Amino acid sequence: MTETVIKVENLKKYFPIKGGIFKKTIGNVKAVDGISFEIKKGETVGLVGESGCGKSTTGRTMLRLLEKTEGNVYFKGEDIFKLEKKELRSMRPKMQIIFQDPYSSLNPRMSVSEIVGEALLDHGFATRKDVNDKVMETILECGLAPHHIRRYPHEFSGGQRQRIGIARALILNPEFIVCDEAVSALDVSIQAQIINLLADLQAEKQFSYLFISHDLSVVKHISHKVGVMYLGSMVEFAEKRELYSKPLHPYTKALLSAVPIPDPTLTRERIILHGDIPSPANPPSGCKFHTRCPYKTKRCEEEIPEYRDVGGGHYVACHII
Ligand code: SF4
Repeated sequence: MTETVIKVENLKKYFPIKGGIFKKTIGNVKAVDGISFEIKKGETVGLVGESGCGKSTTGRTMLRLLEKTEGNVYFKGEDIFKLEKKELRSMRPKMQIIFQDPYSSLNPRMSVSEIVGEALLDHGFATRKDVNDKVMETILECGLAPHHIRRYPHEFSGGQRQRIGIARALILNPEFIVCDEAVSALDVSIQAQIINLLADLQAEKQFSYLFISHDLSVVKHISHKVGVMYLGSMVEFAEKRELYSKPLHPYTKALLSAVPIPDPTLTRERIILHGDIPSPANPPSGCKFHTRCPYKTKRCEEEIPEYRDVGGGHYVACHII
């Protein structure tokens, strides 16, 4: 059986809203509101949903870049929120993140050699003498050229900068990588190149990815399983093929209806969702999606739908399924 690398159990992350002259907590933004899933070795879980649904907060809390409000995250069986500072620091290299905007996440005053080698020196994984060899090996693996090692971020295209971001994560030999909208800022053709690079690296090194994107068509190419989030909750989770061929939740159906079909002879009825996403500080009662759902009933306004396995690991939270 394939080893579980990361397991999330009923994870909640609330951000307090302060108000009044004493700056008391008067409410919470429920960015992540009780989600559970796991990622196995060599597996990619895609996490999708509109912006503000809690995907990025989920990824950052899984890496303990943010503290949790409730729930647990286990990395290879170890509860990461129980780790002391020193233990967490030694686990950090195993859990990496690749950000959306490679330009703002790369220090413009540092060369590629310094950017990619910095963490290696910080963690004592290499001496100054051999860091350059290791950086060279890693940037070549990421599709950059030897002469790029002395260059600075402004000298690269968006796709190349993202390769630097990948090299920076890769050099620490991680086991779990959060790709947070890692290709969203790139042109479509460059997106495909970066996704292929991530997939090739995974095939070789057996990384586990949490691949976060607002775009279901992007997630499709790299994911083995896909989770759909709405207002901090997971509304559907399934194997990729199952989710794309048999979506069950009305929200997933609406998102999928917006994905273009590459065959011009085929058409798909577009489901338009009316209204904006409600505020996670004041989510709707019952099913959080009821204010936009074309199938809502009275029950949906009053009762929270149970998130349950409807067969073969296909989870959904909806009263009418
Ligand atoms: Fe729509 Fe009701 Fe299902 Fe929510 S529970 S998705 S409102 S049908």
